[in-house]
Parts: sequence; structure tokens; C-alpha cells
Amino acid sequence: MRTSRRTTQKPVFPARTAPRTGSLDELDAVIATCRACPRLVSWREEAARVKRRAFRDWEYWARPVPGLGPSDAPLSIVGLAPAAHGGNRTGRIFTGDPSGDALYAALYDIGLASQPTATHRGDGLELSGVRITVPVHCAPPDNRPTITERDTCRPWLARELELLRPTLRAIVVLGAFAWQALLPVLAEAGWQMPRPRPAFGHGAEVLHTSATVVSAPPATSPRAGSTGS
Ligand code: SF4
Repeated sequence: MRTSRRTTQKPVFPARTAPRTGSLDELDAVIATCRACPRLVSWREEAARVKRRAFRDWEYWARPVPGLGPSDAPLSIVGLAPAAHGGNRTGRIFTGDPSGDALYAALYDIGLASQPTATHRGDGLELSGVRITVPVHCAPPDNRPTITERDTCRPWLARELELLRPTLRAIVVLGAFAWQALLPVLAEAGWQMPRPRPAFGHGAEVLHTSATVVSAPPATSPRAGSTGS
């Protein structure tokens, strides 16, 4: 793995910076500058340097990939992390990989996406009523972020959900990693969570007075919330 020549930030950068953001647009812009996880910074830039043969003409995004969707969405979908040659290439979450192909086709079918395909930023895709995000904003090696990386990235998701809270009514979780990452984030964002925390299972639910958290059944969970590749 190539070591980045640019310095990384301290792991406290997200924790200090996320609460100061005043809007989702501001949050998304700041997330894209984050370099708090040295291993993930190296990996996302290595993927951009080596590339996949099919994408050799692409200039990879190679930065953290923010969430996508309007700030007044009543529904949020939480996946895992960008794919090295998907979101890390295109700069938009679940865009340019098989997981996104399935997800956006499903959202189009129920009227939440303007088109069934997502290939690159500027392809015309718009979401309505749904915000898609991830608990880890950088592509991880082998699709496996570490616990430390997940926890370092947590303040971004906590702030995102806090900003969405006035309209947010339901969250669909794609996979066990997202489930385990999300529940403490919800608590951090101000939701009261049941104790003990509910275990993950496909179709599991956490009912709350202001929002319902549901894990997607396998048939609707693109690669069980995997990053794709
Ligand atoms: S995973 Fe999150 S905290 Fe770590 S560098 Fe990427 S955006 Fe920053």
C-alpha cells in the first residue's frame, strides 16, 4: 500500500468539526476534506492510483464520499462504506458499482429516484424523500473498516442524522455492520434507544416515537450493505 504524501488529520477532526456544521451541504463539503484515518486515506488513494482496468481513463474521486439526498427526507438508507472502484471512483455514494445498480433501480421503482441508473456525478440522478448515507465515508480494504475507523467516522453520521431529525421518520439499514454502527449514533444524535440494544437480524425493527429503524431483508439489501467493489 502506498503511503500518502499528504499528512493526515488527527482522529478528533470529525468530532470537533461535525457539530459545528449548520447544514447538510456544509457537512457534505467538510466530510470530503477529512483525512482522519491514515489506513483509509492510503487505501482510497492507492485504489485511485492503481485503478481497475475498466476504469483506467477515470480520474478517481479518492476522497471521502458524502451522503446523497435532500435535507428534508423522511427516509434514510444507511449502508456500509463506499466501494474502492465505485463511490471512491465516481465521488457519489453507491454510484458505479453493482450495489448501487440494485439500490437505485429499487428506489426508481417506488418513485424515490428520478432514474433507475447511477453511473457518475452529473448523470441526472435526483432523489426525493430519501437520504442515502454510510457510517464510514472512505473505501476500506476488503470492505472491512476497523472498529476504530468506524468510531472515528461516527460524528459525521451523528450530525447528519441530527440535521435530518426534523423530518426523518424511518431508517432502513443495509446489513449488520450498518446496524451496529447506527444504533449508538442514534443515541448520540439524541434518540432514546431501548436497552439492551436490539440484535441485528434481517427485518429487525426498532420502534421509536419519532423514527422507526428497520434492517432490510436479504432480497432488498444490496450485498447485505456491502460496499461493492
Ligand atoms: S472514514 Fe470517515 S473519519 Fe475516516 S478519513 Fe474517511 S471520512 Fe474521515
